[in-house]
Amino acid sequence: MTKDLDTIAALAKRRGFIYPGSELYGGFVGLYDYGPYGVELANNIKAAWWRAMVQLEDNIVGLDSSIVTHPKVWEASGHVGGFSDPLVECRECNARSRADHLIEAAGEFADEKMTVEEINAVFDTVREKVACPNCGKKNFSDVKQFNLLVQSNLGNFNEDWSTNPTYLRGETCQGIYINFKNVLDTTRVKVPFGIAQIGKAFRNEIAPRQYIFRKREFEQMEMQMFVHPDKEMEVYEAWREKRMQYYLTLGFKEENLQWHEHENLVFYAKAAWDIEYKYPFGFKELEGVHARSDYDLTQHQKHSGVSLNYKDQATGDEYVPHVVETSVGVDRTFLAVLTEFYDEDELGGEQRTVLRLPYALAPVKAAVFPLLKNKPELVEKAQSVFHYLKGEVRAEFDDNGNIGKRYRRQDEIGTPYCVTIDFDTLEDDTVTVRDRDTGEQKRIPIKELKETVMR
Ligand code: ATP
Repeated sequence: MTKDLDTIAALAKRRGFIYPGSELYGGFVGLYDYGPYGVELANNIKAAWWRAMVQLEDNIVGLDSSIVTHPKVWEASGHVGGFSDPLVECRECNARSRADHLIEAAGEFADEKMTVEEINAVFDTVREKVACPNCGKKNFSDVKQFNLLVQSNLGNFNEDWSTNPTYLRGETCQGIYINFKNVLDTTRVKVPFGIAQIGKAFRNEIAPRQYIFRKREFEQMEMQMFVHPDKEMEVYEAWREKRMQYYLTLGFKEENLQWHEHENLVFYAKAAWDIEYKYPFGFKELEGVHARSDYDLTQHQKHSGVSLNYKDQATGDEYVPHVVETSVGVDRTFLAVLTEFYDEDELGGEQRTVLRLPYALAPVKAAVFPLLKNKPELVEKAQSVFHYLKGEVRAEFDDNGNIGKRYRRQDEIGTPYCVTIDFDTLEDDTVTVRDRDTGEQKRIPIKELKETVMR
């Protein structure tokens, strides 16, 4: 079976999960649109995360902060000064590449946290070996730092707004830090507590590649846990455990996930590990779990002039809380889900492609078919079953093509159940329910249908 990126992207396009952004106009690099099944799957991914992080936890609350903030937020966070990736330009074709990625591909170590001098020194040692991914020539510029923040003129009516821009957020968590005090003052939370948020983030990625893995507009699901300084590492270890368990419970195979420790910690961080998933292009970061000390709140305290101290009413202790962060992309989860649950097998002597999605993630839970399209009594009955189901679960009606073809279509979008209405249904009010994974069919009364297709 070929689980390569092209096969997965072809399925995602063919079945209305993912379209290239602005395709009508020839596309726009680093942007993608989610189609009718894509938006359902993405919503289910977000709902599963929200359930695990907010609903099932005792001390985590939600937030939806704005995409654009006061520009000072990004100065305080260090993004204006230092949110950059190392860029090299091909002198032959002008294509831009991430220097750290080229160095890594040549077998040496580099990352975006190195200084420009350090990375230039390493790049010089591999210069002879690395070829431009676009034209294949080996003639690169020196490495320079390129800031990833995306600028906007929101609220700025000056002609030359770019000297004083606002920014589209580069990560969602800054919205959490700047609302820490609001949440503390207006709700019943006490340290330790967390704030969770799902939302868009924007980065001027130098070389967006690998499909939806690296986009310029993407979505993050982030949780910041505010803890007593002495408890940071204990809470951190607990969250590392929980986040790995989350993917296993969702149905991911253990061998497709691994931990990766950051070689090069930023000066304020206590620990940083990534959960990597085995994408078709190898193990890469899916989620980051970080112990960030009191850096974020201290920076915002300094730049805003507002105290972000926490006073423990029970002990009288006063301190700036430390932060444990979990941060994952919706899009990277989406690609991991497509990769993990894509399958090909043979059923009833026929080859098929099937997305073995966990029930909670499936875009459609049940599809309802009349056996024949040209028998009004079957169509009418099937419509009534469809209407009966759709108030409870995301259901779909399909009378197009033969039954085999309809099964194939639902298999490819991962629908767990197909329900067929035939002439016997008109007699005895029973239907055939077919299971996506086994192809097994059973006859059940309509009154048992809801409990059969709902989990
Ligand atoms: P990378 O090293 O791959 O660029 P990062 O370390 O910069 O990622 P973080 O800043 O830690 O990523 O962001 C947290 C999460 O947000 C990542 O683990 C990833 O799931 C997601 N993410 C980050 N950048 C992108 C992007 N350009 N496109 C899609 N998802 C992204």
